[in-house]
Amino acid sequence: MSDQVGNSAGFDADIVVIGAGAAGLMSAIHAARTARQEFAKIIPTTDTPKATDSQTQTAARIVVLDGAPRIGIKILVAGGGRCNVTHHVVREQDYAGSTPAAIRRVLSRFTVADCVAFFNQLGVELKQEDTGKLFPVTDDAHTVLNALLQAARAVDVDIRSPLRVQTITPLVDGGFEVAGAWGSLRARRVALCSGGKSLPKSGSDGLGLELVQKLGHSVTEHVIPSLVPLVASAQHWVRSLSGLTLDAEVRVVSATGKRITSFTNSMLFTHFGLSGPAVLDISRYLMMERTRDASASLQLSFMPGCSLEQADTWLLEAKAQTVLSRLREKLPERLAKTLLEGAGIASDRTPKQIERDRRRALAQLLCGAPVEIVGDRGFSHAEVTAGGVPLSEMNLATMESRKCPGLYMAGEILDVDGRIGGFNFQWAWASGFVAGISMTSSLNSSPHFLKPNNENNR
Ligand SMILES: Cc1cc2nc3c(=O)[nH]c(=O)nc-3n(C[C@H](O)[C@H](O)[C@H](O)COP(=O)(O)OP(=O)(O)OC[C@H]3O[C@@H](n4cnc5c(N)ncnc54)[C@H](O)[C@@H]3O)c2cc1C
Repeated sequence: MSDQVGNSAGFDADIVVIGAGAAGLMSAIHAARTARQEFAKIIPTTDTPKATDSQTQTAARIVVLDGAPRIGIKILVAGGGRCNVTHHVVREQDYAGSTPAAIRRVLSRFTVADCVAFFNQLGVELKQEDTGKLFPVTDDAHTVLNALLQAARAVDVDIRSPLRVQTITPLVDGGFEVAGAWGSLRARRVALCSGGKSLPKSGSDGLGLELVQKLGHSVTEHVIPSLVPLVASAQHWVRSLSGLTLDAEVRVVSATGKRITSFTNSMLFTHFGLSGPAVLDISRYLMMERTRDASASLQLSFMPGCSLEQADTWLLEAKAQTVLSRLREKLPERLAKTLLEGAGIASDRTPKQIERDRRRALAQLLCGAPVEIVGDRGFSHAEVTAGGVPLSEMNLATMESRKCPGLYMAGEILDVDGRIGGFNFQWAWASGFVAGISMTSSLNSSPHFLKPNNENNR
């Protein structure tokens, strides 16, 4: 992209970031910080190591536009209002979507240690819980959002809302015009951090995905809710257990019985079907698999790791015990009774008194109970979006588009979705960080950029 003197005039901003969520704020803060560092290098001061305020203010003009009336809703609702900022170990295997190698490349630029240090520096101390999740010690997501907004203000990032961007138009000589019902702005670089489609009432309704397609990008064929509760068929027994929570293995199985993937964690029975961490984690794998194989199904194992034979043997080892009493060793009574009913077995029988077929049917329910899932709860109940812009269309060293030079992307708009535990925020922090520093660095060659009192920047 051209950044010659003649092209600089008339820009309202050096950088416009679309979306003031986790990725957008991170990207704006780091773009501005990088600009200040660069500025301090070229404007050395004799008395103080830092440039003065009036000097640094001229370093770069960074504007963040967000369509929502309230900034940072998703940060505030995250982790049940406590905001699970990251996880103590983050690996590419914790994500789906684009290739693990591509995801790793971005994650490695801003590690969990970097994340902890970044928030510490903002005055947000993080604590690690037994699950490996990291939360602010205040247990209050406002601490995280306020710190990010304050960090942005500290480097003169100009956050404006509610300004929804409806078009992004590349300019002939470089740069972009972004526009909406509110008017328009011309910027040298644009970072599209508009999220995916999850929780549309927060402002992330997928418009960004439409905008980016008009700029030459593709979006994955399927863009579906991820980390979303699953709806069971109307009469399914799981609904009768609403409110019950327990640890289980939840797995996706192909039509031929092949296990596609599984998660073992806590799960929750609800009035509509299934929820809880293990179910949320598996939801995208079931629904994505169904786009290829409509008969892919869900199974629950209340004896994780056990085969049908092992479950049957375990039942038979009960000797004189009633089958209900045997089941209660592993299961809550409500579930035990429901499974017995499902297998057509009276609860006062001993396993040896039960005919073989029925006993094996019970063993099957224990280690692989099929649940007829008729759908998911949709984007309004999804924590994240599966699908988006493929990482193969991005320069991963910079998060700049390979299709549209000068356009950067970060966060959930990209085809990367993590499991429960802070992984989605870590992706937003890492990709936002890379986009932020790279946008500023790319402007560095401009003779007008980073000049004190440069009127073209105003
Ligand atoms: C209920 C819930 C709980 C969650 N809990 C956690 C958690 O504890 N830990 C975790 O890691 N992840 C969690 N997530 C996921 C996490 O919040 C997201 O992955 C992350 O916020 C994505 O950040 P983002 O900046 O890419 O997108 P978003 O947070 O979606 O931000 C995008 C922003 O862009 C704005 N925008 C969109 N389109 C336009 C437009 N055209 N013009 C202007 N502005 C626009 C939106 O208003 C929004 O503010 C949770 C999600 C939900 C819904």
